[in-house]
This record gives sequence, C-alpha cells and structure tokens, in this order.
Amino acid sequence: MRPFTYVRAESVPDALNGAHTADTLFLAGGTELLNWARIGIESPRRLVDIGRLPGLDEIVSHGDGLRIGALARLNDVAQDPRVETSYPVLAQAILKAASAQLRNLATIGGNPVQRTRCPYFRSHDPVACNKREPGSGCAALHGANERLAIFGWTEGCVAVQPSDPAVALACLDAVIITEHVEGGRRIPAAEFHTLPADDPAAHNVLRPGELITGIELGAPAPKSAYVKVRERQSYEFALVSAAAAVEVQDGLIARARLALGSVAPRPWRLYEAEQALVGLRPGSPDLLDAVTSGFADSRPLSSNAYKIPLARNTALRALELALEA
Ligand code: SF4
Repeated sequence: MRPFTYVRAESVPDALNGAHTADTLFLAGGTELLNWARIGIESPRRLVDIGRLPGLDEIVSHGDGLRIGALARLNDVAQDPRVETSYPVLAQAILKAASAQLRNLATIGGNPVQRTRCPYFRSHDPVACNKREPGSGCAALHGANERLAIFGWTEGCVAVQPSDPAVALACLDAVIITEHVEGGRRIPAAEFHTLPADDPAAHNVLRPGELITGIELGAPAPKSAYVKVRERQSYEFALVSAAAAVEVQDGLIARARLALGSVAPRPWRLYEAEQALVGLRPGSPDLLDAVTSGFADSRPLSSNAYKIPLARNTALRALELALEA
C-alpha cells in the first residue's frame, strides 16, 4: 500500500479544498475504501476524512419527501420510521445489503459508490480489465461471466453495479446532491452510474473532488417492495434484485416504477414495462407480459442466460409485493 496523508475535514468547504485531484479520496464509513486500498484498486496520496462533518448524518423532511444526509448510517436510514412507512423499498434494500455490523458503519452516500464485484476487477493478480487498466481488455467477456450483465454492456466491460440501496433509489427517482469547488449538482439516482459505451473505465459520474452531501426522496411510495435473490440468505451480493413502487387508483395500476439490480452497470429501470403496467388490475395474468416487455433489449453473455427469466420473475414478485403493501 502506498503511503498517504490523512486529514480530517471540519466542514464541507474544508473537505472540498484541495480535493479535486484524482489521488485524493474521501473517507466516510470506510467499509469499501479500505478494500480498494488493500487490493490495489486505488492508491490515494491523500485521504480526507469526512466522517464527522456536522449535520450530514441527519434525515429531515423536505417538501413532500425526505432529505437524507450522506453520512447517515445505513441502519439509521432503514430504521427511521418515515423511511419504513413511506419508502419500504429503501428500508428493505438496505436491510438486505450487508451484515448489521457493516450497516452500522456504512453510509447512504457511500454505498452507491461501491465498485463492481467482478472477480477480475477484484483480482490480486494482473488481468485484462478496462476498469483496472484502461485499454487492457475485458477478461470477463469470454470468461467467468455468470454473475455479470444482461443489459447495457459492451465488449469493453460487462460488469454489474452491486449496491442494493442504489436500486431502490433509482426506482424512487431519488436525487443525489453533490458539492464541488466548481459547483454542486443534482444527479438523478438512475443516471448516477455510467455505462461502458461512454467509458469502460468509469464507474459513476462523480468528478474528482466531488462530494455527495445528501439524497432527496420525493413523494412517499408506501406501496413499494424490494426482492433480492442470492446464493445464500445472508451477507451475499445479489444474483439479481428488483425494486418496485406502484400507485393504484380505482382498482387499476395508475403508475409503476421498476428497477433491477445486478443485471447492468447501473440500476436498470424497466421503462417499457412501467408503461405497459398502467391500467392493469392487480392480480391480472397480464402483469407477467407487461413485465416481460421490459426485457426486449436484454442480451445474455456466454454463461448467464439464466438471469433473464430469473430477473423477470424477481421483478414480477417485487411488483406483486408492492401491490399487496
Ligand atoms: Fe474489468 Fe469490467 Fe471486464 Fe470485469 S467486466 S474484467 S470490471 S472490464
């Protein structure tokens, strides 16, 4: 591990000052950043500890919804009565994201920034990986790709984004708030992670030195649910997951939002399916066809065709649970 300097920021401007170089990283919960340093994914020269910035761990009412400070611990978000009642999809996604010990440390602003679990990306040995070494290729394209993408991939990268809360946030049309010395931004959660067609080496749209300060949730979505399918029921990343949020009026679906996890480089909204669901009756056999319409652009890799029916059925189950909520 390369030696680095450590500084503790006392305010947001203090954190941003001098942080706009690629070898400066922000440290919050540390549950992922320390993995990066151990494996060699990142070798920062300077760590800026933002863990004690005042006020950034608060969850406050904001318009019709909530503003969650980026430093709010995952468990504190999941156990907040307003989140449990009004955004159950987010509470459920967080509780399925990690062990209780990790949820007590990890933050809601840091979790979506975690990087892919692609085995080549996380390898201790040098392998072809455009995310580790831009231009080196993609060993997963014809290699061990059974857990990787069925949507949104290119030959440059077939990785999937692993955060469970990020899928719920994309489903809820949450907005990620950032600050930067050149000005902050409001980034739709569904567009926070990048696609490899733009740049296989990129993970998300953050610029060097850009700090997530909060996440805004809009109007409550009490009829919502999250389903995670994994190889064991504890402490495991998803094979696929699905978040659903629905509104029902006069016995018919008036609005539906569906997002899949672990199937693409970003949480994958099924926009065609969302449109097809409007006007259907909860319990209708047509729900399956409507969900299936969102898979027209799915493309399996050599070893993961199983993910297409699995993801379709997981999305349908999340939709049914949301309708029952
Ligand atoms: Fe690297 Fe992406 Fe290929 Fe994995 S899928 S080896 S992260 S380029």
